[in-house]
Amino acid sequence: MTIEEIQQKVIKFRDDRNWKQFHNPKDLALSLTLEAAEVMEKFQWKNSQEMGEYIQNNRSNIAEEIADVFKYLLIICHDLNINLEQATLKKMKKDNQHYPVKKTKGKHTKYTEL
Ligand SMILES: [Mg+2]
Repeated sequence: MTIEEIQQKVIKFRDDRNWKQFHNPKDLALSLTLEAAEVMEKFQWKNSQEMGEYIQNNRSNIAEEIADVFKYLLIICHDLNINLEQATLKKMKKDNQHYPVKKTKGKHTKYTEL
């Protein structure tokens, strides 16, 4: 299944329930962030060992929250008429210019400070 087909399913799910009326760009961006925070919450207060064990035992719960993030991403892209695949490829091109492998391999320095 392609990203576009998954997006169509997510939009159909939303529209079947008449939830578009609640989906303005601000609240979609907010929801995207809240779902990302739910992913972060899974790891809150855990040290490296605890996180490793948690991931092993809760992978499907983590996957559900990541899927929630993805769903909101698909919805906001749909509503703002943004092609997620094209936008990602375009941004990666820019990232490649900002972070040439020669200058950045093994470094976490922001491109403005290279
Ligand atoms: Mg969630």
